[in-house]
Amino acid sequence: MSSPPPIDIHVHLVGNGTGHTGCELHPRGWRQPLDMLMLKCMGLPLSALKGDLDRLYRERLLQLVRESSLAAAVILPHERAYDEQGRVIKNHTPLYVPNDYALKLGRKHPEFLPAVSIHPARPDAMEELERCLEGGAVLYKCLPNSQNIDCNNRRYTRFWERVAEAGLPMLAHTAGEHTVPVIRPDLGNPRVLERPLQCGVTVIAAHAATKSGLFDPDYFHFLVEMMNRHPRLYADISAFNIPIRGQHIPECLRGSLSERLVHGSDFPVPIFGHWSWARGLVDWKSFRRWEQHPNPLERDYQLKRAMGFPDAVFNRIHSILRKSACESNRQQRTSHASIEN
Ligand SMILES: [Zn+2]
Repeated sequence: MSSPPPIDIHVHLVGNGTGHTGCELHPRGWRQPLDMLMLKCMGLPLSALKGDLDRLYRERLLQLVRESSLAAAVILPHERAYDEQGRVIKNHTPLYVPNDYALKLGRKHPEFLPAVSIHPARPDAMEELERCLEGGAVLYKCLPNSQNIDCNNRRYTRFWERVAEAGLPMLAHTAGEHTVPVIRPDLGNPRVLERPLQCGVTVIAAHAATKSGLFDPDYFHFLVEMMNRHPRLYADISAFNIPIRGQHIPECLRGSLSERLVHGSDFPVPIFGHWSWARGLVDWKSFRRWEQHPNPLERDYQLKRAMGFPDAVFNRIHSILRKSACESNRQQRTSHASIEN
């Protein structure tokens, strides 16, 4: 029997609100060149930032998934930062992508699996969670240090219990963050995830708690220690193709750790194979072949395969994502189609 097709679980949605998507983008200061670099790596014109970005971005993303080896990509909305009283922290959200936008795209395209992002301090957090479950959410996404979510706060217990009960896995950013502003750097520590794990949530630590900036704390070994205690704790290998994050790849490839890893790219974060080649993780021939590949999703997938990540890392997520009503309809449609063909 052939193994299930690969899925990328870490693909960001971006938009400036054109076409009534509800998205917001406020590029500021030193982050502006970073936004421009991301557009360039996607093959989009820089004018898209102020133009019809939402449509251009989603059409390009759809094309990239279709032209890759991937069966689908989990698309991530982006929640606002809130204080513990449930008030939006103004000027701390350069990017906002509503849940409805991801859910709508998920219903429209089988290549897109919708995640949702809800700050648990929001006064309507429970209602929004129910609405998103109804709408077909397959994953819950958050950035504790940037969105000011202390997941260990006991006030959020009911929220995590409902997430667990619904079978919705959680993808949480861990370690340093440099594409959106950070409010609480200490919440980059994977230990912030203890409470959801105790409530029974299946948690995926994004970037495996590796550092992204030179001066970030390195939480990787904290995460490994937690994985030994929590069988429901996984990690994704997203953004491993940027300079510093790939530092712990040799440990990820060894032993039982690779049995708890899942694949994600962190698209549109740029993907470069140079660092893995320089570290001797990818041979020259594979590096040359995939570094020049025009599709960044395929480039990231193939470079990680060339590093030696086993097939299971790329398809393990099939058994972790929530099977929403939309997803089972989709699977039925696919199996009917294959019977008819
Ligand atoms: Zn990300």
